[in-house]
Amino acid sequence: MSQPPRAATPEALLTEVFGYPSFRGQQRAIVDHVCGDGDALVLMPTGGGKSLCYQVPAIARHRAGRGVAIVVSPLIALMHDQVGALEEAGVHAAFLNSTLDGGEAARVEREMMSGRLVLLYAAPERVTTPRFLAQLDSLHERGLLSLFAIDEAHCVSQWGHDFREDYLALSVLHERYADVPRIALTATADTLTRADITLRLQLQDARLFVSSFDRPNIRYAIVEKDNARAQLLRFLRDEHEGEAGIVYCQSRKKVEETAAWLNGEGIAALPYHAGLDTGVRSKHQDRFLRDDGIVMVATIAFGMGIDKPDVRFVAHLDLPKNIESYYQETGRAGRDGLPADAWMAYGLADVVNQRRMIDDSPAEEEFKRGQRGKLDALLALAEAHDCRRVRLLAYFGEDSAPCAPYQNACDNCLAPPATWDATEAARKALSCIYRFHQHGGQRFGAGHLIDVLRGKVTDKVTQHHHTHLSTFGIGADLSETQWRAVLRQLIALGHLRTEGEYNTLEPTPSAREVLRGEVTLLLRVAAETPRRTRAKPAAPRAAKGAPPLALDPAGLARFAALKAWRTEVAREHNLPPYIVFHDTALAEMAQRNPNDLVALSEISGVGAKKLEAYGREILRVLEGAVG
Ligand code: ADP
Ligand code: ZN
Repeated sequence: MSQPPRAATPEALLTEVFGYPSFRGQQRAIVDHVCGDGDALVLMPTGGGKSLCYQVPAIARHRAGRGVAIVVSPLIALMHDQVGALEEAGVHAAFLNSTLDGGEAARVEREMMSGRLVLLYAAPERVTTPRFLAQLDSLHERGLLSLFAIDEAHCVSQWGHDFREDYLALSVLHERYADVPRIALTATADTLTRADITLRLQLQDARLFVSSFDRPNIRYAIVEKDNARAQLLRFLRDEHEGEAGIVYCQSRKKVEETAAWLNGEGIAALPYHAGLDTGVRSKHQDRFLRDDGIVMVATIAFGMGIDKPDVRFVAHLDLPKNIESYYQETGRAGRDGLPADAWMAYGLADVVNQRRMIDDSPAEEEFKRGQRGKLDALLALAEAHDCRRVRLLAYFGEDSAPCAPYQNACDNCLAPPATWDATEAARKALSCIYRFHQHGGQRFGAGHLIDVLRGKVTDKVTQHHHTHLSTFGIGADLSETQWRAVLRQLIALGHLRTEGEYNTLEPTPSAREVLRGEVTLLLRVAAETPRRTRAKPAAPRAAKGAPPLALDPAGLARFAALKAWRTEVAREHNLPPYIVFHDTALAEMAQRNPNDLVALSEISGVGAKKLEAYGREILRVLEGAVG
């Protein structure tokens, strides 16, 4: 095949190199700005397409003789795949990190210093070493330092849990190479983090590009914990049989236990947390990326930089810290734009734990106040009766309309929950707590309180003579679940707090307002998780390995053959299959069944290099597939 013509416009580059027909959202504006020497701060949700925002300018500038782009990326473990994806697309890229031996590193440095390299990936701790800076000086003097891309830029901010000390030193890049454009990218949108990035990376003069944070293909559902394991299992079996996803838990212990239990239930699950040794962690991560249908059970230590496109669900078994974390974690689902689920089970204990963690932390009181405020916003989201998407986006300062009917609608839009007036119940609960005080001055936890309210004679009730209380049995009309919901709301709204080792309940000053009937409490009626009637709302859910497009039997046979071929190629190249081609590209090939290279090149995701490397094989595979 002859060399493709050198592309001039960014569009032509996008099509030639990546095989995509057009830019998405703000990509084009960002690319133009950076190609024209501008600095940029890019806020785009996960899956929005941040990589192309620096990769296309890097390629364009390299072709114009401007040399090498330096990509600062926090995760060494993921650089190999990122670089692999670029090389597959015919873009000369490399990484420098501790996984390379001396010879390999020397070769990469030679490629960099010669200016032949288009993109170089390195971790911040390397970029800021004197040795590396000296190399950058040399490139800069020769006009071969094309741009800096700072990925996962929120790592510079102390506000999130991804904070990395090394990122702070990156301001040196601006001080030293003021004329080299810098583009910082993050999917963390809150204003505090944004301001922090601007300040610490000295991006005051950079243009800010804020994309919509809506993820229309993600369906949000938050259910009340009843039996969390059974609920999770039902969710996995009914909605995501054989599909890849992430289950987040708060503690390492719970991660281990949950993964082991899922395996016992016949679901392929792997644990991931910071307490596992590096070798095990990277093995598990690799399997998650490379094999089909693995469920990763993880703490928040897992997920940053994971660009697996077909994560079909993110489930939370414990409440995250705040809405930023929730959104970042759930955002890892559905990067490929196909339907995906964000599912969370939460209950009274979650509220109590999260509050306690803040209270017990050694941080300054002002910081704690901030954390409590953020937790409250998340609790309000969890307790909401209206559209979750609207609330999420509003939190990030974006106005939006409720989920359109049947388009990956959130649980509340799909099945608007009934509510009941729990004001009277709340007053009963609070007066019962005051009775405890008067009667022996003791404090009790939620379990005992509910027993007393419901008139249950337990050993503890007898021991404390609580059958004599005027509040004994005044709440027999409500179920235990309903009482838990009432207490959860009272805690979430700050009328009750929990104390000490036994989480005893203590009214706050505002509890008086509830007792006086000045506060109305509307609660969701605890319902079964709304079942999705599968066929209507979204596209029918695919069974394991099924294509993302509707295919006839012959098309299905072609899709299966293409997947088998891709598995082989991925193994030979030591890359995850999706880096060779996405499922969506294979499905389109199977559907359109192109019979020559020109027709094949029109499929999204087929760039010039991949066409040249794989085109003929693909045509052969298509021809040979029999349904
Ligand atoms: P982010 O880093 O913002 O999470 P990525 O850069 O990984 O997102 O892009 C998400 C997915 O969308 C990738 O699979 C990428 O190939 C695809 N993508 C990005 N931009 C485009 C585009 N303009 N056309 C088609 N696909 C795109
Ligand atoms: Zn909604």
